Amino acid sequence: VTETTSYPLRFSLTPSPAARAEAEREEILADPGFGKHFTDHMVSIDWTTAAGWHDAQVIPYGPLMLDPAASVLHYAQEIFEGLKVYRHADGSLHTFRPEANARRLQRSAQRLALPELSVEDFIESLRRLVAVDGQWVPSAPETSLYIRPFMIANESFLGVRAAHKVGYYVIASPAGAYFAAGVAPVKIWLSTEYSRAGRGGTGAAKCGGNYASSLLPQVEAYENGCAQVLFLDAETGSHVDELGGMNIFFVHKDGHLSTPALTGTILEGITRQSIITLAKDRGLTVDETTITMDDWRDGIESGDITEVFACGTAAVITPISQLLGSEISIGNPDAPAGELTMSLRRELTDIQYGRTPDRHGWLTRL
Ligand code: PMP
Repeated sequence: VTETTSYPLRFSLTPSPAARAEAEREEILADPGFGKHFTDHMVSIDWTTAAGWHDAQVIPYGPLMLDPAASVLHYAQEIFEGLKVYRHADGSLHTFRPEANARRLQRSAQRLALPELSVEDFIESLRRLVAVDGQWVPSAPETSLYIRPFMIANESFLGVRAAHKVGYYVIASPAGAYFAAGVAPVKIWLSTEYSRAGRGGTGAAKCGGNYASSLLPQVEAYENGCAQVLFLDAETGSHVDELGGMNIFFVHKDGHLSTPALTGTILEGITRQSIITLAKDRGLTVDETTITMDDWRDGIESGDITEVFACGTAAVITPISQLLGSEISIGNPDAPAGELTMSLRRELTDIQYGRTPDRHGWLTRL
C-alpha cells in the first residue's frame, strides 16, 4: 500500500443547486431521527496509486456513479468513521477528538489495504463540509450533526487484490436526541452462535464487513427485545469482547471500573478511551482486562458489579439493565441507570456541548 502524504489538499466547492430552503431544513431539524436525512453537500477525494490523493471537492449531495465491477461491491474493501458536530450555546460548532478518528481511519486503512489519508486532510474534509452545511447542526439539547467519512475501493476490476483506485467521501446527517424521553437502560442479547472477529481478523478495523456479519445476530437481538448484541471472543467463547456498535464497561462496588482490553478483536472506541481518562481524573482505577461471562454472572450475584454500561459516539453512554441469551439471563430488566454511569455520561456530554471547560483539549472548533 502506498502511503501518500498529500497534505494540504486544496478543496474546490460546487454549491448545490438543490440546497433545501431554510423552512424545509428547520422542519427536518425539528425531528431528524438518526441517519435518515442528509445535508446539501458532501466531500469527495480521489486516490490512485499513480497520483495519490487528488481532486478534493465539496459537491452537491447525491448518488455516486460506480462501475458494476467496482471492487468494493464484490470484496467489501471499505472502511468508515463516525463522529459528531455539536452546537454550543453561543452557536459555535465543535467536533470531539477528530484526530483520534483520523488515526483510527488510518489504522483501518492499513488493515484493509487502503491508502491512508493524513490527519490534517481528514480534519480539513470535515471543516470544508461543515463550512457549507453548518446550518444543518441542530441546536436542541443532545442533538448533533453526525458525520460519516468513508473510503471505498472503486477500481473496475474483478481480480482479488488491493484496488489501485479509491474514493474517500464525507456525508453528514442531523441526529436527534438518542434518548428523547430520558436515558433508558437497555437489554442486550448474547450471541453464542456467531462471532464478530477472530485472531488476525478485522475486529479492530472499522470496516463494513464487520457490520454485515453482525446483522443476523442483531435480528436475533431485536426478536428477543434487545437493543444490541454482545459478542464474545471467538477463541474461548467466554471472554466479553464488545457490542455490535459499542464498547462495554463494568462498575464495581469499590468504585473501580473494568472494561475488556484492546486485544485486536475489538474496536478501539474513542468514547471508551475518553471514559477511561475521565474516570482516572476522578481518582478511579480502570482495569483493561479479560472479563469472562462467569465474572459477569458472579459479579452481579455477589453484588461486586453494581453497574454495566455501553458506550460509543451514537448514544454516548447507555446503561445496560440485563443480558439475555438462549440459556442465560444476568441482571434485572427493571434495573435503573447506575449513578456513576449517569455521572460520567453527564460529564462527557457537558464537555461535548461546551457546558464545562474542555480541560483535555478534546474539542476542535470547526
Ligand atoms: N465498537 C464498535 C463495533 C463500534 O461500531 C463503535 C462505534 N464506532 C464503538 C465500539 C464505539 O466507538 P466510538 O466510541 O469511537 O464511537
